Parts: sequence; C-alpha cells; structure tokens
Amino acid sequence: MNTKNIETDCLIIGAGPVGLFSVFELGLLDIKCNVIDILDKPGGQCAELYPDKPIYDIPGIPEISGDGLVHALLRQIKPFNPSFHLSRIVTELKKNDQNLWEVKTDLNETFITKVIVIAAGGGSFQPKKPPIADIDKYEDLLGNGNRFGVNLSYAILDQPKGLAEAFIIGEDFIGSNDVCLILGIFKNKDDGEEKLKCEILLPFFGLTMKLGPVADWGLNLNENLIEVDTEKFETSEKGIFAIGDINTYPGKLKLILCGFHEAALMSQKAHNYIFPDKKITFQYTTSSTSLRKKLGVI
Ligand code: FAD
Repeated sequence: MNTKNIETDCLIIGAGPVGLFSVFELGLLDIKCNVIDILDKPGGQCAELYPDKPIYDIPGIPEISGDGLVHALLRQIKPFNPSFHLSRIVTELKKNDQNLWEVKTDLNETFITKVIVIAAGGGSFQPKKPPIADIDKYEDLLGNGNRFGVNLSYAILDQPKGLAEAFIIGEDFIGSNDVCLILGIFKNKDDGEEKLKCEILLPFFGLTMKLGPVADWGLNLNENLIEVDTEKFETSEKGIFAIGDINTYPGKLKLILCGFHEAALMSQKAHNYIFPDKKITFQYTTSSTSLRKKLGVI
C-alpha cells in the first residue's frame, strides 16, 4: 500500500464535541486543523450513544439533542474548513529530525504536525465480542460491524425457540478459507441449550471504549486517562495536548462544557508552538473586526 504524507499545523485525534469545538478555538488563532476519527462520522459519544437524547447543561442552550449539538458545532466550525479523516485509527507516534510529530494511521497515512490534540474521549469505540476463545481469527467471517444491539435476533438463520432470551454461550467452528459453519450453542429462555448451524453470526453485544494505541505513546497516564496540567492541558510531552473525557487532573468533570473550556486554554499554548514569533492579542468575537472576518460574518 502507498504511504501518504499530510502536513498540518495541528492534528486533532477525535471528532467528538470537544475535538470539534477545538477546531473553532484554534481557527480563531489562524491554526488549520486536520481531524481524525475511528468512526465514520463526527460527533463522538453524542452522535454514537445518544443522538436523540436531550442535553440540558450546555451554557446558553436550555435543551439540545446529541445530534443537534453535533450539527450546531459543525456549523460553527465551517468557516475554518477543517479536513476530516474518518474511519481510521491512529497507531504510531514519533518525533522526526525536524522536531515535528509524525502520527501514522492504520490506512498507512502519516500526518506531520507541530501540535497534536488528543480529544479521544473514553478512547476508541470497539465492539464487545462474545466471550469465546480465539474468536478474533473468525472476525471477518463473522461480520465485524460497528453497530451493536442487545440480542441475537439478526444473527441466526434458523431461529431457536425462545430466541429473544437467547444468549450465546459457546461455539465450535468448522472453517475453511471461504466457508465457515458455526455451531452456535445458545441458552434459551427455558435454560435449555441448543446447537445451531449458522453461516453468519452478527453479535450485537454493544460497544466498549478502549484507549487503544495512544496508551503506548509514553504519555503519563493515570488509570488509562492522560494526565495534563490545568493551565494549558498539555500532556507530559511538549506539543501534545489532551482535552475532554480523555484527560485527568484534580477536580476533573467529564462534561462537555468542561471540555470546551479546556479547548480554549489549550489553543493559546498551541499557538505558541505553531507561531513562536507571534503574540496573541486577546479579543472578543463580538467586537473584533479581524475575528468577525475570520468567521465570515462581515
Ligand atoms: P467523545 O465524545 O468520546 O469523542 C471522542 C472521539 O474520539 C470518538 O468519536 C472516538 O471515536 C474518537 N477516538 C477515540 N480514540 C481514537 C483513536 N485512537 N483514533 C481515532 N479516533 C479516536 N455530558 C454533558 O456535558 N451533558 C450531558 O447531558 C451528557 N449526557 C450524556 C449522556 C450519555 C448517555 C453519555 C454516554 C454521555 C453523556 N455526557 C454528557 C458526556 C459527554 O457525552 C462526554 O463528556 C463528551 O462526549 C466528551 O466529549 P469528547 O469529545 O471528549 O469525547
């Protein structure tokens, strides 16, 4: 596979609400962002876990749904035209001989960047797998979807009795390169066991969140969260920031509004790395002509 290099001022890992809002805060400071997410759409937990549920504690917005907030954020960051790179996961990190960070993805791209903002929430959403030994080697054959429900009603070609209550409790495989027959052993609602032959198994077991490869990047961690200071939300590596649910510090609250605050302070320090010779002049969007021009409102 060909490798592709993408140069950017700032790479944001995670397109959840906090990653999206940091595009806005960085954009006001003329910092162009590339955003990566493992999911196929922006929005993080709001879009994936509770798109239709109301949120009541976004300042100034009495009520908004998860999806509604994501759409509002996408509209808000439109003037800064971020580049989204969806459906890929970051894998490796290294510093190159020009003192820039290089981040690889599983699609063989390399992002070369001055600053990294990790806004990866609880980590990457990953499918919960049935508790079956060696299931990984059958994964493609089993249909490795991103979406998961709670029962197995789509999973089985011939339904066992009492399927709504059925749980998979074991499995035997008869496999070859292109044919895989599964003998699913299910527990039905009468507590009996049934064996079924299936061609495809789609386990709808829900999602779990894992920090994934970022855990191996040598950053200081505390119970799988990234330690940061509360002045600039920088990690133990200079030029790498962590904001939103992924970070930890004394008094941390996993709330969207806290992530937004962190994004604003992080951006000030990120500017330092990207434009070391420029000073930031503090300005309000209400009254600054230059900020309003950037936002395209004048
Ligand atoms: P996330 O929303 O988790 O987004 C992180 C993104 O990073 C994800 O899209 C993920 O796919 C991506 N990612 C992770 N790892 C990688 C990787 N290695 N490579 C590429 N991409 C990666 N908060 C409130 O303030 N008010 C509420 O009312 C509220 N209600 C909630 C209700 C529910 C049911 C839940 C589950 C949460 C609720 N929250 C609420 C919490 C809120 O959703 C989180 O605080 C918020 O989503 C955190 O935003 P984030 O951007 O930090 O992370």
